[in-house]
Amino acid sequence: MKPDLKSLTHDEITRLLIKQGHPTYRATQVVQWAYERAAESFDAMSNLSLPLRQWLASEFDLWTVKALRDQRSTDTTEKLLWQLRDGQLVETVLIPATPGLTSCADRHTVCVSTQVGCAYGCKFCASGLNGFRRNLTAGEIVDQVLAVVRMGRTTGIRVGDAPPVPDPEFRVQNIVVMGMGEPLANYDHLMKALKIINAPWGLNIGSRKITVSTCGLPEQIKQLANEPMQIRLAVSLHGTNDTVRDQIMPVNLKHPVRELMHACEYYAKTKGRMMTFEYILIEGVNDDLNLADQLTAMARRLHAKVNLIPYNPVEGLHWRRPSLDRCHAFAARVKSRGVAATLRIEKGGDIAAACGQLRLQTMRDKPPVTPAVP
Ligand code: SAH
Repeated sequence: MKPDLKSLTHDEITRLLIKQGHPTYRATQVVQWAYERAAESFDAMSNLSLPLRQWLASEFDLWTVKALRDQRSTDTTEKLLWQLRDGQLVETVLIPATPGLTSCADRHTVCVSTQVGCAYGCKFCASGLNGFRRNLTAGEIVDQVLAVVRMGRTTGIRVGDAPPVPDPEFRVQNIVVMGMGEPLANYDHLMKALKIINAPWGLNIGSRKITVSTCGLPEQIKQLANEPMQIRLAVSLHGTNDTVRDQIMPVNLKHPVRELMHACEYYAKTKGRMMTFEYILIEGVNDDLNLADQLTAMARRLHAKVNLIPYNPVEGLHWRRPSLDRCHAFAARVKSRGVAATLRIEKGGDIAAACGQLRLQTMRDKPPVTPAVP
């Protein structure tokens, strides 16, 4: 497999082209084609000489993802399944925020994957069910966003029942790294991808609009705290003590709650920024109101926000979501103690939008694969 161009920064491309005897502005042109214009091929880079286009094509792949399947849910969340160059599958979810109920979304959030499969094996999650395959390259992470941008501009993104309309101005405003895989276990590629996504020459998405979610790797949380980039951190807590967390998240056996909280304290102190605790509500496991009180105490100590998410059932797993009343009661209890909490009634539940579900379904059904995007 050739290296992929979108794993390289502008500086790296410049150095490479200088070595080939090209002036620096050539690198700027290549980068503009790759990102600003989301060019389909090296051949389309019409202001580069033919030999340079041919050289680039012989050395690099421009795109690393090919759309295989796209599924729309009734609430307009769009789930995309990509095939990578080695045939592996990853998912990206597109979440349009629609002003009122018009058909035109004004903000788009893209949820990206960082690994094929996942090694952490959270008991409730579909991503790890078939084990871990490999880390994504920086370019494969970047391409998930860029391919959505290209799709928005060329074929249009379907929102609601309206037919897709190409929008030459289509932009992605927010990135959440909450797809398949554990982002902090693919740290270097993740950081490089985020730099490219954030760079003015790249996708130009503000660092405060980027959220990274982790199952709780203390060392990497501290490392992230020391990065200059002001990205947001979300920690998948799901349990406030070791008894609960050990049951559902094997990572807790290695890094218990105390150790995780130390790392979170370091992050909060170093960055001086609010983090988010994610808390899936699972019936009979972590939905007791006493646990809401523990969660509140932890959130207050760290000055963290809380995102409560009723569990999205996964085929083949026995976990269930509590009744809506129970979820509301849990949320009310957390809020009553002065913690900023939201109860997120999960978007995309009907299209298997919880991590790893579409890939899993596709691998189980082995359906005939039809390209969703020309
Ligand atoms: N590995 C990272 C990011 C990927 S998962 C992490 O653990 O944070 C993104 C979020 O979705 C996590 O909070 C994860 O616990 C949650 N999640 C996984 N499966 C889910 C399901 N079936 N229903 C609801 N949330 C789920």
